[in-house]
Amino acid sequence: MYLLDDHALDCIRKAGRLSAEARELGRSMVTNGVKLRDVAERMEFHIIDHGGRPAFPVNISLNDTAAHFTPNSADCIAFDNGDLVKLDVGAQVDGYLGDTATTVEVGTRNWQPLIMASERGLELAMEMAKDGISVGTIGGVIERSIKETGYRPVVNLSGHEMKRYNLHAGLSVPNIDDGSLTKVRENMLLAIEPFATNGQGQVSNGKSGNIYRVLRDRPLRDEEAKKFFDRIKEEFTTLPFCERWCDRFENNSIHLLKVLHRHGVVSTYPVLVETQNGMVSQAEHTVLVGNGRTEITTA
Ligand code: MN
Ligand code: MN
Repeated sequence: MYLLDDHALDCIRKAGRLSAEARELGRSMVTNGVKLRDVAERMEFHIIDHGGRPAFPVNISLNDTAAHFTPNSADCIAFDNGDLVKLDVGAQVDGYLGDTATTVEVGTRNWQPLIMASERGLELAMEMAKDGISVGTIGGVIERSIKETGYRPVVNLSGHEMKRYNLHAGLSVPNIDDGSLTKVRENMLLAIEPFATNGQGQVSNGKSGNIYRVLRDRPLRDEEAKKFFDRIKEEFTTLPFCERWCDRFENNSIHLLKVLHRHGVVSTYPVLVETQNGMVSQAEHTVLVGNGRTEITTA
């Protein structure tokens, strides 16, 4: 167990609140014909305008894509009727993190049971997340509740512990009972995120989702690329970033990101696609584990 001082607690709560506000703002904007880029930018600027920073680029993943897509600034791709939209957003305040996600259906009501399946799994998991319980037991509750609805949990995506400046730190919270006896402890900050699908229940890597991170430091001969890379290291350190964010200080960023990628100093995250192209829903909250009482920071 580690202790949290008042400053840490304040920051964790503020990061949670900003993440939740951005999530709800995004939900209210998702409509037929609206551009993904405009929703992502509004959500991120809400966090920035209220004294936080995005912990990662807002993920907007459609239909059989489970995660890791963010639009570029020149993208004109818009929501369409029938789309099943996952909005996943995180804020950081002085390095303390919040992480939350929701699923919205555009214009139709074909996938409400699938949306409910991941939400119900999340509710049950949050009720169980107390000091001393094993993560395998939590995963088992998520797994059973999703299977009872006739859908499948996505087995190779999981929730995670968060530490300062570290989105995926320490323990994982699986969406199935993987037999893990690792125990949740008081004062842990956990993101719990069930994914449900009518497909096989697995994701695999698709094409690049426009989200980058610095991979390694290496001298670059191209003066323009070097200057751009220096700025990226300074702005984003080791945290994920995207072309939209680079676009604010470099108008040739699409080209220069390709140059950096070719030189192996940045990498991209592939989008995660359901292996049978099943539709995927996601629900996520951040919880602060207390002694007997667990606080949802992104409620
Ligand atoms: Mn998330
Ligand atoms: Mn997460």
